[in-house]
Amino acid sequence: MTQPVDGTESPRARVSFLSQSSTAASGRALRPSAKVLPEHARGHNRALVLQSLFTTGQRSRADVARSTGLTRVTVSELVTELMAEGLLVEIGQRGGARPGKPAILLDIDHSSFQVVGVDLSDFAVFRGAVLDLRGNIVRRAELPLTGITGQAALDRVVALTERLLALVSAPLLGIGVGSPGIVDLAGLVVTAPNLEWTNVPLQAYLFERFGVPVVVANDANAAVLAEHSFGDAREDLMLVRIGRGVGAGLLLGGGPLYGSRFAAGEIGHVVVGTDGGQQCSCGKQGCLETWIAVPRLEAKLMDAPSEAGRDDVLREAAGRLGIALAPIVGALNLGQVVLSGPGQILGGLFVDATLETIRSRTMAPFHGDLTLRLTTLGDDIVLRGAAVMVISARLGVS
Ligand SMILES: [Zn+2]
Repeated sequence: MTQPVDGTESPRARVSFLSQSSTAASGRALRPSAKVLPEHARGHNRALVLQSLFTTGQRSRADVARSTGLTRVTVSELVTELMAEGLLVEIGQRGGARPGKPAILLDIDHSSFQVVGVDLSDFAVFRGAVLDLRGNIVRRAELPLTGITGQAALDRVVALTERLLALVSAPLLGIGVGSPGIVDLAGLVVTAPNLEWTNVPLQAYLFERFGVPVVVANDANAAVLAEHSFGDAREDLMLVRIGRGVGAGLLLGGGPLYGSRFAAGEIGHVVVGTDGGQQCSCGKQGCLETWIAVPRLEAKLMDAPSEAGRDDVLREAAGRLGIALAPIVGALNLGQVVLSGPGQILGGLFVDATLETIRSRTMAPFHGDLTLRLTTLGDDIVLRGAAVMVISARLGVS
């Protein structure tokens, strides 16, 4: 399946479109490895070549052949094709004194295509950006959200997307959207209570409206992809987003985990402990959200009588998060947990106390080298993850 990208006549605006079944949405490993059925070989080999340059960049054709296991002839043909599409460029010769003809280095042309990313997870604004293939933000736009739900919220997503499309300055690869709530693999928002959305086919709706490839996923699932591609993360990773609510995205063996009802990572309404706790919006008592959601934490910190009192609040909240995470770390043998949320609350003591709790509740020989840290991607993590979803779906790399 090949689709024109955005209606311009430039040959660069045409990129082979990998079938949806081979996108990240299927839950397969995000990055291509070896071996594949012959009929899928060409698209797969293209992705292998792109991936070998996407991660490290600046390699010769011979380097690419070595790292992918493809023959030099195949690599040369694919490189010619990818250069004609504008995705690859020659960036000069390798320096240094090596015998023979100096090798010409290749790299991805990260400005050759752009992606529109949209983040619907903030409760006050819908945020958007135009991003390049490195996930760098080229332009930004946002629209206020306060008090808007249902069809009006959907109209606002369309308005923001229109505004972003007008800012695009290179051929467009597609639109990626990180939405709150439960989102299935077809980009249907099964439920997003804050926006009062139930069974909203957001991906199909935006595709119909704009006629370009669209990928919609849960915001935490988008965020974990950003951490994987741009945040120096490993192949087994849990990313916990702490904001007005609490959710997580999971990557196992390099592939996203969605769960039987697309709700993997929805830990916010899991009750932590058997000692009660505050009333939750879901009707239960002592859900993880009641302990660590940012508005609840901010209220408790405001009431704290002293600096020491604030530390106690943070230590208790972090302890509850650790109690919730320990069995997940134990069951999946995760090596890495990354937190995303306000750094002034979650940095330092909160991170340390969460890790300490997990360590005290898991087996040191297997889980002792677990790392837990704040993301370095800041508030743009969902926008950048939305870009990864599109790049992965269109080019097969991440
Ligand atoms: Zn709850």
